[in-house]
Amino acid sequence: MTEQRVNIEMYVRDHCPYCDNAKILLSSKGVTWTEIHLGKEPHRKEEMILRSGGRRTVPEIFVDGVCLGGFDDIAALEHQGKLDPILKLQHKEKTMTDIHNVVILGSGPAGYTAAVYAARANMKPLLIAGNEPGGQLTTTTEVENFPGFPEGVQGPELMELFRKQAERFGTAFLQGSVDKVDLSKRPFTLHLESGQAISTRALIVATGASAKWLGLESEQRLRNRGVSACATCDGFFFRGKPIAVVGGGDTAMEEAVYLTHFASQVTLIHRRDDFRASKIMADRVKTHPKIKILWDSAVSEVLGDDKAGVTGIQVKNLKTNQVSNLAVDGLFVAIGHQPNTSIFNGQLQVDETGYIVTKPHSTYTSVEGVFAAGDVADKTYRQAISAAGTGCMAAIDAERWLATQG
Ligand code: NDP
Repeated sequence: MTEQRVNIEMYVRDHCPYCDNAKILLSSKGVTWTEIHLGKEPHRKEEMILRSGGRRTVPEIFVDGVCLGGFDDIAALEHQGKLDPILKLQHKEKTMTDIHNVVILGSGPAGYTAAVYAARANMKPLLIAGNEPGGQLTTTTEVENFPGFPEGVQGPELMELFRKQAERFGTAFLQGSVDKVDLSKRPFTLHLESGQAISTRALIVATGASAKWLGLESEQRLRNRGVSACATCDGFFFRGKPIAVVGGGDTAMEEAVYLTHFASQVTLIHRRDDFRASKIMADRVKTHPKIKILWDSAVSEVLGDDKAGVTGIQVKNLKTNQVSNLAVDGLFVAIGHQPNTSIFNGQLQVDETGYIVTKPHSTYTSVEGVFAAGDVADKTYRQAISAAGTGCMAAIDAERWLATQG
């Protein structure tokens, strides 16, 4: 192993999925780093905010004292091929590897379950983790509805267990993201952002779905400066401060309740007069003394600047068109997800909302040898347990299909 030529520092917290993702990405580069744990050293929070030019999110990653930002930022650098030069890594030859039996794209419950089944069937699967290792469950807190955990389990912990089980049976893992695929001929070819090409006989697509944003310019400008989609990562920065959550589904309910541990008040903003969330979770929100609900309302602007971060939001009542300002220090967006299918455009059949179409009672897609599992092909149930179930089906479908190919 060659000597590391840069000094890397990372500000982190426990139960921070983006911190875990950053560590996985940096580990895959073979580098090491020093961790500053804000849970153990809370007084260093101000130091981090100052050094990062006002950012209020973990992780914050510094290379030789220069702030690179958080996980999304280093993933973007990796995407642009700029991370290796920053880490002063040697250029590696990019070659086509051997032909794999089955490659699994995605590392949520569907991908890991497919890996467990494929590995136990001696298919020697390769799992490509993608830019959101662990998937959506890594951004949730308590998961109460995954069978086998009567007391509930933390989302990131559950995904860690999934991963270990897949590892135990010999799944090979690759940290990286595929940005182009060729499904027109077999074996299929997958092109990674790093430039590497991978060839596989069967493909299981378990790329899941990603968090949606409101689409405001001010929301993007103030992301990580008070605008967040991860309460477990960033709630801590708003201790004793008022914050707002947008959304009316289970995620918004869960985030709002979790954030009451830190915030002085949580205002939940929903565009209709009825929640989509399950009754049990909606009731927790409705009866919580620290949560105020603004019905029929939308966030029309996020107020603040780079230095101060978020200072407030502009809220529009959709029934009266009345606009008012609300002073908050943080805005948590929890408005659902969209399927990650853009790399398959024109190659796999998707429905009008972008979800992959599978043949009834199976995981077969429109291309023979390609199987889809989890949220990427499911807009109805979207549960961790149903994703895991279809991951199992995809591995069995792939195994049986490969057996017919001789
Ligand atoms: P959902 O799609 O269920 O809800 C999204 C919410 O955001 C809806 O209330 C929707 O409004 C609102 N919304 C969508 N787009 C916008 C927009 N542009 N502006 C403002 N509001 C918007 O997503 P969730 O992430 O909440 O949940 C996904 C799945 O995960 C669900 O099946 C849920 O049950 C499950 N889940 C389960 C949990 C648990 O059991 N512990 C925890 C978290 C999630 P509208 O209602 O008007 O469409």
